[in-house]
Amino acid sequence: MSNNTPYKIYLEEHEIPKTWYNLRADMKEKPAPLIHPGTLQPLQFEDMQPIFCDELIRQELDNDTRDVPIPQPIMDFYRMYRPAPLVHATFLEKALDTPAKIYYKFEGNNTSGSHKLNSAIAQAYYAKEQGLKGVTTETGAGQWGTALSMACAFFDLDLKVYMVKVSYEQKPFRREVMRTYGASVTPSPSMETEIGKKINAEHPGTTGSLGCAISEAVEAATTQEGYRYVLGSVLNQVLLHQSIIGLEAHTACQKYGIEPDIIIGCAGGGSNLGGLIAPFMGEKLRGEKDYRIIAVEPASCPSFTRGRFAYDFADTGMVCPMAKMYTLGHDFIPSANHAGGLRYHGMSTILSQLYHDGYMEARTAEQTSVFEAATLFARTEGTLPAPESSHAIRAAIDEALKCRETGEEKTILFGLTGTGYFDMVAYEKFNNGEMQDYIPTDEDLAAGFATIPDIPLNA
Ligand SMILES: *Cc1c(COP(=O)(O)O)cnc(C)c1O
Repeated sequence: MSNNTPYKIYLEEHEIPKTWYNLRADMKEKPAPLIHPGTLQPLQFEDMQPIFCDELIRQELDNDTRDVPIPQPIMDFYRMYRPAPLVHATFLEKALDTPAKIYYKFEGNNTSGSHKLNSAIAQAYYAKEQGLKGVTTETGAGQWGTALSMACAFFDLDLKVYMVKVSYEQKPFRREVMRTYGASVTPSPSMETEIGKKINAEHPGTTGSLGCAISEAVEAATTQEGYRYVLGSVLNQVLLHQSIIGLEAHTACQKYGIEPDIIIGCAGGGSNLGGLIAPFMGEKLRGEKDYRIIAVEPASCPSFTRGRFAYDFADTGMVCPMAKMYTLGHDFIPSANHAGGLRYHGMSTILSQLYHDGYMEARTAEQTSVFEAATLFARTEGTLPAPESSHAIRAAIDEALKCRETGEEKTILFGLTGTGYFDMVAYEKFNNGEMQDYIPTDEDLAAGFATIPDIPLNA
């Protein structure tokens, strides 16, 4: 039947899901709660109130409600760029000469260019509903900051973005997009916050990391009246919002009789992967279906594949709570690879628990092989992919090539999380043959692991 599927499957507008799906409701082993670094007790609503918006805290703590209604103003905004298409990558299949069927869910079809807008608009909405003046955040590669600037402009909220310095310098155009939507953008680590000054003093010349920028943004939120901090990945609430990716993909698959065997996503903090797999993983957890689910991370920042499953700080400056996750240590700063959105030291607690319990696999990809995959994809399927998304493309291609050898007709579904128009410095390096692969040595990793807190819970 899938032979008769259109190249691009667009759902009807009325088929956009009206509820998000909370995967935690179907997990027997719930993700470990965030804990207070001082008391080591699970964080309660009041503990988080100074940092996060009230409704988002409720979503963060809710392990039980399976279907969460999407408020109408968010639905209205979603209609500007959703439903997102599920594409049958027939041109890529042909180039690979594979019997495998390859589908991708494309989330780059909005100005910010990535899936991050799905959660940005939700978070901005709840901040506005609470009557806040504005929000602060960090951005790595710039996609989250761009998405949030669009969302804040829509709901007329002030936005202050701390942008990882290496991206700020490499991607001046991203910065200008954010400013066009009304955000103010500061390179991190900055000299504007106490934690920024401290990090600059300890790591002179550092190009920054997501962990540093998070610390700065949290400090900026908690020291200003009427502001809260919002985060574009990792948190349970973000995976909840991103479930719209998987719900749409699942509906499209059902409509056309597509049954994926393998589902693949790149993993930075885990939000797109957690969103894409949500309804499929739900079926797997309930014992209704089985899927192979694969997370792909950069060889330079291998949280799942080489990290420890332990409580660690969510940020370099240790101002955030601790989360139990696969981590490289909160002080781990990855080498300057070109997938800025995958440079986080930790991982979603939901995905960490699922990986720990054997429900999914993980692998790494090296930078040059990722860009080879990106180039083949661009030349065959037409869309210029984001370097982050290209990790998933790499794995999808590798699985399809295995099928060529074995003759198996597997169906592969992967998440194409965004476009790469702002990543041309990276593409330039690759095209010039100047791109290098960085794989941290065990010694490099040991330095990061040494910063994982030595608390009884980690014994
Ligand atoms: C941020 C980003 C990612 C990685 O973040 P996750 O939270 O792991 O999804 C992947 N792709 C793109 C295009 C991004 O912007």
